[in-house]
Amino acid sequence: MAEVTTYRNFIAGEWRESTGGLFEVTSPGDGALVYRAQRSTVDDMRAAIAAARAAFETTEWRDDPSTRTTALLKFSEAVRARHEELAQLLTRESGKPSPISRGEAMRLAETTSYFAGLARWIFGRSQTPQPNSISLIMREPAGVVGIIVPWNAPLALLARAIGPALAAGNAVVVKPASYTAGSTVELAKIIEGIAEFPKGIVNIVTGPGDPVGAELARHHDVDMVAFTGDTATGREIMRLAAGNLKKVSLELGGKSPTIVFADANFERAIRGAINAASFYNAGQICIAGTRVLVEASIHDTFVQRVREMVPKLKVGPGWEKGVEVGPVISEPQLQKVTGYIEQGKREAVLVTGGHRLTEGALAKGYFIAPTVFDQMKPDAKIAQEEIFGPVMGITTFKDLDEAIHIANNTVYGLVAAVWTRDINKAMKIATRVRAGSVWVNTFGKMFQSTEMGGFKQSGLGRQYGLEGLFEYTELKHINIQIEK
Ligand code: NDP
Repeated sequence: MAEVTTYRNFIAGEWRESTGGLFEVTSPGDGALVYRAQRSTVDDMRAAIAAARAAFETTEWRDDPSTRTTALLKFSEAVRARHEELAQLLTRESGKPSPISRGEAMRLAETTSYFAGLARWIFGRSQTPQPNSISLIMREPAGVVGIIVPWNAPLALLARAIGPALAAGNAVVVKPASYTAGSTVELAKIIEGIAEFPKGIVNIVTGPGDPVGAELARHHDVDMVAFTGDTATGREIMRLAAGNLKKVSLELGGKSPTIVFADANFERAIRGAINAASFYNAGQICIAGTRVLVEASIHDTFVQRVREMVPKLKVGPGWEKGVEVGPVISEPQLQKVTGYIEQGKREAVLVTGGHRLTEGALAKGYFIAPTVFDQMKPDAKIAQEEIFGPVMGITTFKDLDEAIHIANNTVYGLVAAVWTRDINKAMKIATRVRAGSVWVNTFGKMFQSTEMGGFKQSGLGRQYGLEGLFEYTELKHINIQIEK
């Protein structure tokens, strides 16, 4: 039997063990041990922060954009070359289908190559505000950036923080989610081999969110923290960050609407709605379109097609061929999601699914049948709270105003989708629904060059694009007096 890997922390360019011992990561697909990683202590995190500070202050990294471009491009190419291996590990640790893991590893490569290019595009401006007075408005790196990553898409979500943070000249400390720590620590092996990365510019420390991640959010020598994950944890990060008023970037939960009008291309809309529900990641996607709002006149046909299509999705461990829906990440997540499903049975009408799957080998993992509820009232608990499981709810609306009202009836505002052939309806929805991204007759199109992020309690700041890069910078005004 192959030996089980034990991952160490990557601090100041060295592989270090923690005095806190190890924790085990088992696969949610079959319960098998995948690897061990360091159960780090607050002292380990402090050592990583000190290493990042030293690298930021003493190397030329912050002032050398062309070295940063080269480093990030080499990183991107190495991830591309190793994407199959990374994807296999991601599928083992998370259970997600192999094609999804491959796509995610490639996204890491593409995002870092995009930001590699932008490293040389960090421009300021200059002006003459008075005679004999010249002002320079410069963008500088924020400094030491803490990046806290969740487990649902660990490589893709790391990419859009580490890419711009490094491109902008920062030093980073990454705290991966414990369930998926391995695929992130693997990246340190790549970084170690790229001479352009000074030691200490990238540090990775595994261990429990509290206290290890909390120390990163709290520490006064960290200038910025970028967090993706649960809204409640995001609120706690903000509270911890308040101690030294560090910059905060948050991408949090969602309860996103897919709005389907009767005049939509029906087959495309139905496939779009099912895709939006993100069954491919067992619903564990922050942008998941979990609320489907359907115009009353097409409701019955819509539900009928959903009843035909969703049960055909193949559920199983992601490493098996043809699997379309993997397990949820953990036993607590299974309990949480099945709790919401029982709640849904009281609040709405079950169309399909509604139970854990335990036949044969599935009993060893955390599998839930893709579940759809109909007649979900806009104020129901399952319509208001982020379930983060393979659960979609259908609600009807009678006209455009009601669709907008229901769509906005949530504390979240991450994304929305609208399906219609009427450009006026599409634009009214797009401009009046309070969400950071709105898709018209499509879903989930995220490009490295287009910003995304949340309104309301879905977050703070933007990822991707120029705005996503500038999040990781500070503006500085330098004024020069010219002697006459
Ligand atoms: P969290 O959002 O709490 O975890 C995300 C990351 O934050 C992990 O790296 C975690 O570490 C870390 N973390 C946890 N607590 C703290 C803290 N106090 N200070 C600093 N870092 C912290 O997600 P969970 O895994 O705890 O899941 C809770 C629920 O959140 C899930 O049931 C799911 O419904 C939802 N969720 C939503 C996501 C989204 O994108 N909308 C993403 C992930 C989860 P560690 O892994 O060690 O705990």
